Amino acid sequence: MASEEFSVREGELAVEPPPPTDAGLVFIGRIHTPWTSREETPRQGRQDGPVCRIEIFDPWVPGLKGLEDYRQVEVFYWLHRARRDLVLQNPRRDGDIRGVFALRSPVRPNPIGLSVAALVGIEGNVVLVRGLDCLDGTPLIDLKPDRCAYSPPKPGH
Ligand code: SAM
Repeated sequence: MASEEFSVREGELAVEPPPPTDAGLVFIGRIHTPWTSREETPRQGRQDGPVCRIEIFDPWVPGLKGLEDYRQVEVFYWLHRARRDLVLQNPRRDGDIRGVFALRSPVRPNPIGLSVAALVGIEGNVVLVRGLDCLDGTPLIDLKPDRCAYSPPKPGH
């Protein structure tokens, strides 16, 4: 990790958090993206961005059944390389200090990321999507179909 990720900018406040326990979460897969550093990773995913591969681990693969009916999927991931202790942040380095809960920063007590991605396809245990903004190798927490105007649930769903 670059030392920049451990520095505290003017106006920021770092606190002493309790030891992380990850709350007993189970990582159900791994996300493969083109990005290997935070600097090159988009701040927010775009649905015209590159296709990314979400690998689902055993024994969770049967859980994909029916997901192909949707055009968009909510992807929840664990921003595993983010620090967790900054409650006040200076995201633009311009003195506009914001609380962590007023930001979508990866730096947060529980570094959960959420993107609404376009579903491109499903190939076995791999879900192909566009619209992510995470580092290659980011752990996957959950997938949910996005029930938006573009993907109405079928009868019975
Ligand atoms: N779209 C998600 C959200 O709104 O919850 C995440 C937004 S967050 C601003 C995206 C940024 O987090 C990326 O630009 C990158 O700097 C950083 N990031 C991505 N993957 C990460 C990871 N695995 N660990 C730490 N930081 C990560």
